[in-house]
Amino acid sequence: MSKSSLLAFWKESDLIKDNKVLKAFSEVKREDFIPEEYRQQAYGDYPLSIGYQATISQPTTVVIMLQALNIKPGNKILEIGSGSGYNAALLSKLAGNKGRVFTIEYVKELYEFAKSNLKKFKNVTCINADGKLGLKKQSPFDRIIVTAASQGIPEHLLQQLKIKGILVIPVNSFLSQEMLKITKLKTGIKKESLGSFLFVPLK
Ligand code: SAH
Repeated sequence: MSKSSLLAFWKESDLIKDNKVLKAFSEVKREDFIPEEYRQQAYGDYPLSIGYQATISQPTTVVIMLQALNIKPGNKILEIGSGSGYNAALLSKLAGNKGRVFTIEYVKELYEFAKSNLKKFKNVTCINADGKLGLKKQSPFDRIIVTAASQGIPEHLLQQLKIKGILVIPVNSFLSQEMLKITKLKTGIKKESLGSFLFVPLK
């Protein structure tokens, strides 16, 4: 697969209707976030290993999550699970110059990998910590995205989301994860399901 064939596939399948997501995808080089041995597979529509039991997610999964997040320029965004930094790079494009992206990675080596891959994305800050706790001192956030399988919805993340803010998170169900889009309301939350996906577990 090539970048253009993936874009054509999404348009044809009606999967991605958000042109801003397609533009971000076409602007960021996925190959720059992939270990050398797999680089020629950069535009295969499947996850690739980045070591430490982590993967750079499948492109179709990434764009579905980004579309559900409905990012506006200027948004302050929190990502849990930096991995390669690729998704953070897309978030950076969608948030624009006036937006900020904070991405948290638990594994030190992957934090370093993401940080070096994201050098030229000036609105992104990388943090080496446990993302389940969120990032209180930068909260509240307009958008939060979790890119590892979660046991339920972490309370800290809900607390750190603005009213009308959106959280996209894969939550464990039987053998896979149900991708949830959660919108925080003045009283309570609204939950929508985006279907079943497979993710590496949140530590
Ligand atoms: N978004 C990444 C892919 C993430 S894979 C990309 O674009 O490449 C999931 C990542 O979540 C892994 O790197 C894993 O180490 C990390 N992770 C798992 N549990 C975590 C936790 N509690 N806090 C932060 N990161 C975590």
